[in-house]
Amino acid sequence: MDAVRVRFAPSPTGYLHIGGARTALYDWLLARKTGGQFILRIEDTDRSRLVADAVQDIKDSLRWLGLDWDEGPDVGGDAGPYFQSERLAVYHQYATQLVQTGKAYYCFCTPERLAEMRKKQEQAGEPSGYDRFCRELPAEEVEKKLAAGEQYVIRFKTPLTGQTKVHDELRGEMLFDHQTLDDFVVLKSDGFPTYHLASVVDDHLMGITHVIRGEEWIVSLPRHFLLYAAFGWEPPAFIHLPIFLAPDGKGKLSKRHGATGVSEFKAKGYLPEALVNFLLLLGWHPATDQEIFTLDEAVAAFSVERINTSPVNFSLDKLDWFNGIYIRKLSHEELAKRVLPFLQKDGLLPDPCPPERFAYLVRLMPLVQERIKLLSDISQAVGYFLREEIDPPAPELLLGKKGTVAETALLLTEAATVLEKVTDFNEENLEQTLRALAEKLQIKPGQLFMPVRVAVTGQTATPGLFELLAALGRERVLKRLKQAVAVLERAGAES
Ligand code: GLU
Repeated sequence: MDAVRVRFAPSPTGYLHIGGARTALYDWLLARKTGGQFILRIEDTDRSRLVADAVQDIKDSLRWLGLDWDEGPDVGGDAGPYFQSERLAVYHQYATQLVQTGKAYYCFCTPERLAEMRKKQEQAGEPSGYDRFCRELPAEEVEKKLAAGEQYVIRFKTPLTGQTKVHDELRGEMLFDHQTLDDFVVLKSDGFPTYHLASVVDDHLMGITHVIRGEEWIVSLPRHFLLYAAFGWEPPAFIHLPIFLAPDGKGKLSKRHGATGVSEFKAKGYLPEALVNFLLLLGWHPATDQEIFTLDEAVAAFSVERINTSPVNFSLDKLDWFNGIYIRKLSHEELAKRVLPFLQKDGLLPDPCPPERFAYLVRLMPLVQERIKLLSDISQAVGYFLREEIDPPAPELLLGKKGTVAETALLLTEAATVLEKVTDFNEENLEQTLRALAEKLQIKPGQLFMPVRVAVTGQTATPGLFELLAALGRERVLKRLKQAVAVLERAGAES
């Protein structure tokens, strides 16, 4: 067998979608598994729908996911150019060849005539589609019109009867009646090819052996097979991936279900490892019940035969679960690196981050690693460590359910007094000191710990009290305890 060559061929009409990312992942896995090549080709032939920074987003997102390409933008390759807009002469040549061999024809119908035709078809309840008005124009007339510079498109001469047999690696053979297909355009009046012509020509010229793409392209398959036959080329193997169902199971996943762009998931604080693992299992299933896959493990396990054909449920809960798993797998240093941009964005750390502040961030990681689901949860989780001061907590929060103002103020004052005397401000000493204080005051430890926790963090749900006190350091702990006492005294004076 020839070396496998697969391509990911996004149209830069939007940012890299999660569905596109799955296609690229499966392309990449097949290439890496077989020692083949993964090609990135930008299908920018629909000029009216181009989005300015889409190509950048697609490249950045693929790199972020770890899906490097062997040929394509930025890396080059022998089969380029890899932007279809730079290959117009090639499409022109092949469209003309189709005309010369009687497989396609010039069509001079104006947009007005086509609109009129459509209206009539609609009124008569006839199926829509081009009525083949120009299909049998005499050669001299065509010459005259071309010489006169009339606008034209080139249309494929679809056989009027019979069927085309197509093949999908997962679904097997499918038959399409030619009567259901019209004479589709291959070259548009602006000189750009349609998707059909460009993708067939490029897949052939670029030596693509496997085309992996979404199921929505199955309807295009008969046109592609007709084109391959017309050129006398062997079609590649086609593999169509199942659609994503929305989390509620009702219909296809779309924008209204929340984030669908890879960069949106990145901004929300998902790890690329989690997204890749999630997408791996969203349309493919392993032979074992293994759920957690590194990219290397995925390469080893991947096979086209185990791709699913039935629609798959896009469950954000599952993605969150993967994200938690991968966050907990990171070393403290690596986790700190990953959360740093989020903290910088929220103004909690400067950019660049001085080494001693980064070291402090690393020290905080074991306290929060189990607690964050998304990297973007980090500011809430460590904000009170990174800020010199916190907003004074509300009195109600300090009091909890049972405490009174006077009692709580007293507890916090006592706590400050004993903590001031702890020489080595470590977890063990802090625990001993505060437990001894609770005993002395004849209260349950929790009655003391909760107001102290709220006083120093402003929150009720935090990592373990003693580790967080140690990480905060004596100075900030004392300052915040005093601030809380002042809050309570003010509240007492006002009531
Ligand atoms: N440019 C098409 C897209 O945006 C590619 C379809 C295909 O892979 O053939 O999805």
